[in-house]
Amino acid sequence: MKEIVVLSGKGGTGKTTLTGVFATLGQRAVLADADVDASNLHILLNPVKEYEEPFYGSQQPVVDQNKCTRCGVCTQLCRFDAIDHGEVDELNCEGCGVCFHGCPEKAITMEPVLSGHLYRGSTPYGPFVWAELGIAQEASGKLVARVKEVAREIARQEDRLLVVDGPPGIGCPVIASVSGASLVLAVTEPTAAGKHDLGRLLSLTRHFGVPLAVCLNKATLDEEMADKIEEFCREEGVKFLGRIPFAREVVKALIHRQPVTEGPVAEAMQEVWRRALSLL
Ligand code: SF4
Ligand code: SF4
Repeated sequence: MKEIVVLSGKGGTGKTTLTGVFATLGQRAVLADADVDASNLHILLNPVKEYEEPFYGSQQPVVDQNKCTRCGVCTQLCRFDAIDHGEVDELNCEGCGVCFHGCPEKAITMEPVLSGHLYRGSTPYGPFVWAELGIAQEASGKLVARVKEVAREIARQEDRLLVVDGPPGIGCPVIASVSGASLVLAVTEPTAAGKHDLGRLLSLTRHFGVPLAVCLNKATLDEEMADKIEEFCREEGVKFLGRIPFAREVVKALIHRQPVTEGPVAEAMQEVWRRALSLL
């Protein structure tokens, strides 16, 4: 089972738009959206939901008020000012469990917190797995790992390629999405920030031993910077898969909630996809 993870050093580079096009070209690959903090690939793919599971990403203390003697030990132990003589402040609580271990009356239990949901569905392009983290919920890395686990299981059973739309940045959710991938395809843009973020992604993928390939989106917005990024890839020995021009047809397609499938942008994306597949 092969797995391509599409990443960008930050949001707004066109990563999800590109993944949407790859979905249409993916020979009915299994598709997954690992951007659980702001998932939106489902808007393009319009899946029919078939399965839903709750995600419990953290724990919080629950105090048995019949056992609590108001001794205040928990208040002294908590580093987050999240419990006051047996009264829990849920917004400040980090779920560390120190109060649970320290309570002399064994009045505290740690209970799972519903942090989000994972979904599985079908699209015209293949099975799709995505998730949504609740408002102000953490543990997105764990949810990304669960999305990949479910998607990989389908890909293995059905012997299909897995295409993952990863989270932006280089934090914990990105690390969870990169883990075990056959190839990371970085989507960048011709700006100084785009080049800088690409450098950070390169360090991350090298650290985890995952091959990296790069494509440049909206390349015609700054040809000089596009040249610099291509040169950077050459110097670093990173495969450069192509330049995708900027075009308004992309915006029109997004307004209609559809992947871009025609015109020079679509053709450039198709070429990038063909080259990415050749690296697997
Ligand atoms: S440590 Fe336990 S018994 Fe003491 S105030 Fe906190 S919850 Fe109540
Ligand atoms: S679980 Fe940790 S953060 Fe939450 S109230 Fe207890 S000690 Fe404080």
